[in-house]
Amino acid sequence: MQKVIFTDIDGTLLDSYLPDIKKAKKLVEKTLQNGIHIILCSSKTELEQNIIRSNIKLHEPFIVENGGATIIPVGYFNKSEIIHSKKFQKNYIIETGGPAYRIRSLLKKIRTKHDINFKGVSDLSITELSKITRLPQEYVKKMMKRKYSETIVQIDNNDIPKFANILEKVGLKMIPGGQYFDITLGNDKGTAVKILIDIFRKEYENNVIFFGIGDSKNDESMLSLMNLPILVQKANGSWQNLQIGNLLKVKGIGANGWEVALEIILKY
Ligand SMILES: [Mg+2]
Repeated sequence: MQKVIFTDIDGTLLDSYLPDIKKAKKLVEKTLQNGIHIILCSSKTELEQNIIRSNIKLHEPFIVENGGATIIPVGYFNKSEIIHSKKFQKNYIIETGGPAYRIRSLLKKIRTKHDINFKGVSDLSITELSKITRLPQEYVKKMMKRKYSETIVQIDNNDIPKFANILEKVGLKMIPGGQYFDITLGNDKGTAVKILIDIFRKEYENNVIFFGIGDSKNDESMLSLMNLPILVQKANGSWQNLQIGNLLKVKGIGANGWEVALEIILKY
């Protein structure tokens, strides 16, 4: 029986504050040594995830921008044909998200038509974004390279319900993240996870079991597709309230919770 872990990054495999890359690398090493697949599934862009992947030495398929695209190294699957994909360099890319320029143009229309003030990463300069997020310029540059989504980093909290309403009407989806939220053309993590699950099932003739590890609301669509969905604690010690029946809440914030989850998966 093949085991596959779908995992969120921010606040799950890596703590949101002072992430310990060495710890993550050790956890990933142990997982791979036990023959378990690890699929990163995050709101982060391909460029952001590539840095993390190279630091933790992970060469497995991964899902970027809340299900915007799934990137599968060529040769990773032998039996299954990767349909609806395009080949770019050494990867197959399955795009399930709409293009960012369309999202931005819809957002522009909303801004002109309604009296809502908000700022997305594409409305800001590198310096401005670095100031708002308190992240280094090198990092925010990669955060801005969004292909299938837009991250809203500034909006009056009172405007959020009205904004969410308008977004839905024009076919956009608001996906809450840790600090900011992302806007997509309808996809979420689950959209891409579903496709990858199907490929794994075909490849291993259904002898495969899926585990999901997450920490927040944007993991709900991913976790709801798992045989065993696992939730780690948030930085304040609480567990996100999710509508999933067989959800397993483990003790441990972020990466500490991930470690506990791995022990459970190893024995499963
Ligand atoms: Mg998270």
